[in-house]
Amino acid sequence: MSEKILLKNGTVIDEKGNVIEGLDILVSGGKIEQLLTHEESASVEDCIHTDCSGLFITPSFVNLHAHSPMNILKGIAEDVSIDRWFNEKIFPYESKLEKDDVYFGTVLASLEMINNGVTAFADHYFAQEAVYRAVEDTGIRADIAPTIFGLAEDYREQLKSAEDFILKNNGKNSRTKLRLGPHAPYTCPGQKLKEIVNAAKNLGVGIHIHVSETRQQVEDSLKLTGKTPVEVLYECGGFDTDAIIAHGLWTSKEDLKFINDNAYFAFCPKTYMKLAMGNGNIYELKDSINYSFGTDGAASSNTLSPLEQSRIFALNGKNITGDAEGFKASEIWQSLMNGHRALKFETGRIKEGCQADLLVWDLQKPNTFPVYDPLSSIIYSSDANNIVHTMVQGEFLKYDGRLKGDVKGVLQNVGDIKNRILKRGTGKSKISY
Ligand SMILES: [Zn+2]
Repeated sequence: MSEKILLKNGTVIDEKGNVIEGLDILVSGGKIEQLLTHEESASVEDCIHTDCSGLFITPSFVNLHAHSPMNILKGIAEDVSIDRWFNEKIFPYESKLEKDDVYFGTVLASLEMINNGVTAFADHYFAQEAVYRAVEDTGIRADIAPTIFGLAEDYREQLKSAEDFILKNNGKNSRTKLRLGPHAPYTCPGQKLKEIVNAAKNLGVGIHIHVSETRQQVEDSLKLTGKTPVEVLYECGGFDTDAIIAHGLWTSKEDLKFINDNAYFAFCPKTYMKLAMGNGNIYELKDSINYSFGTDGAASSNTLSPLEQSRIFALNGKNITGDAEGFKASEIWQSLMNGHRALKFETGRIKEGCQADLLVWDLQKPNTFPVYDPLSSIIYSSDANNIVHTMVQGEFLKYDGRLKGDVKGVLQNVGDIKNRILKRGTGKSKISY
C-alpha cells in the first residue's frame, strides 16, 4: 500500500466514459497522488513503473448486492422455481453451513470478483465474523451487513450479535464498512423492521435490505398491511439512512414518492431471468432512482460480475422497450460507477486524492479487437481475461492476469467443503419463504 507506482502510457477512461490520452497516474499511499503528462512523469523518481502502453485504465467495479458465502452453494439448486430454490434447496442447506464454509465461500467469491475487476462489494449474510475475516485475508473491500431475520426464533440474539459486531469492528479497517442487514420487510414484520432501522441509526450506519423482489411479495404485503414493501420501509424510516435496496424489481411508480437520494438500488438481472421473476418495473423507473448492479448470490446467478449484469440489463432493456438506441454503453457505464457513490469508499474516480482502485485492460485480444470505441468493447465484448491488473487501494490483487494468494489451496478447501455439505444434507431452515 505504501509503494509508489506509476501507471505509464495507458489510455484513461474515466467514470463518465470519457477517453483521455496522454495521462500517467502516480499512485502513492493507496491514493491517486498525481495525474501527470508524459513529460511531467519522466522526472518522477523512486517509484515502480508499470508500463500500460496499448492498455486502458479505468475505475474498478463495485458489486452492490452479494451473498458472497453462497459461492460455496454455487450449482446446488439449478433449474428450479424460486419457491423450490428457497424452500427445498437453499434455506435447508444453508441451515447446516458451518463457519469454515462461510469463510471459504467468501474467499472464493472475493477471488472471482477481483478477477472480474470488482474491488468492493456489499455483502448481506449471516456468520459475519467469518465474512469479515475472509475479506481481510483477500484484501478486497467490502461493506458487510449482518443479516437479520425478524421471523426467526432467535431474532433478538441476531440483532444483538449484529450490533456487537458493528460496535467491535466499525472503522477498524480502511477496506471495510459495516451496516445492518434486515433481510426484507416480509421477514421482519410488525415493529421489527423499525427496530432494526433504529438500531442502524443509533450505530450511525446504513441498512442493506431486499425489497419488492417478487410480484408475490408486493401482493402479499398489500394484502397484509395495505402498503407496498417500499412504503413499509419508508414508514419504518428506512430512507432516512443510507440504504442499499436489493432488487426493487417490482417497485411501482407510486412508490417513487417514498424514495430519496439516500437509497441505491442494486439490480441483478441475471438472477431475475434465471428464476423467471419477470422484468418488473425497473426498466421504466431507472431514470427516477439511483441504481447500480449487484450479482446476488452465486447460488442463483452463478457468476459474480457486475459488468455481466450490466450487459444483461442493457440488452434486456433494449429488447423489452423495443428501443435499440436506449440503454447506451455510456449510460450503463455510469450506472456501474454509481456503485462507488453508494459505498462511499472514495473510489470510482480518476482524480487526484481519490483512492486508487483501478483496472488495467488489454483489449487487443480476439474477443475485443479491433477497438473502435473502447467503452463499447468493455461493455459488450470483454470478460475477465481482458483485465490485466486489478488494484485495490494502490495494491495489485491481480497482476499480469494472475490473482494474488494461494488460489490452488483455496480450491482444494472448497472441494473438500462441497463433499462435506452433500454428506451433511439438508436441515430445517430458520424461516420459510
Ligand atoms: Zn439477495
